[in-house]
Amino acid sequence: MREKIEEIIKRLEPLYPNAGLELKFKDPFQLLVGAILAAQESDKKINSLGDKIFEKYKSPKDIAQTPLEELEEDLKSVNFYRRKAKLLKSCCSALVSEFGGEVPKSVDEMTKLPGVGRKTANMVLGGSYNLPAIIVDRHFLRVSQRLGLTDKKDPDKVEMDLLEVVPENMRTKLSMLLINHGKNVCTARNPKCEECPLKDLCAYYNS
Ligand code: SF4
Repeated sequence: MREKIEEIIKRLEPLYPNAGLELKFKDPFQLLVGAILAAQESDKKINSLGDKIFEKYKSPKDIAQTPLEELEEDLKSVNFYRRKAKLLKSCCSALVSEFGGEVPKSVDEMTKLPGVGRKTANMVLGGSYNLPAIIVDRHFLRVSQRLGLTDKKDPDKVEMDLLEVVPENMRTKLSMLLINHGKNVCTARNPKCEECPLKDLCAYYNS
């Protein structure tokens, strides 16, 4: 499995030399906020909102101290903005009270924050802190299943499967590459298998 993963990375790297997250951010706080807001919403929408809201909200304290109604008003262009405003406010209050206003650098600590699941925590860990992280978003989930890297369906179980076989120094790289491949080639509907360099390694293609 390790050799297969190394080969996947080797073949995808030239295709996605700048593989990374689509969400724009300048620091872990902005990525955490963006990831919470991006649930059931496009990254593009969150990026354009981010240009405005991060002028006003520069730290967790700024969000924690803002009245909920005002935060809702600022977020009302995103889906489920009321629920997300509430979660963000709780999350930022916990960041201030539990972590001194700093986004922690571990999945275990981050997932104690309201609204933060393993995917979001790993996204911040790998995307902003550049630490080893298996980021199981819907693209990673689909591509890793098709490639036969896991037979699990639950994202947390997929992460655990891959943590066992992917060396630390390859985790974030593999995550970014599979996410990019899932968006561009191994799409949910009509994957472009004929132009995929992973055909001979792919359980789905060869089944
Ligand atoms: S061969 Fe097809 S199914 Fe397999 S990884 Fe490539 S695009 Fe996805």
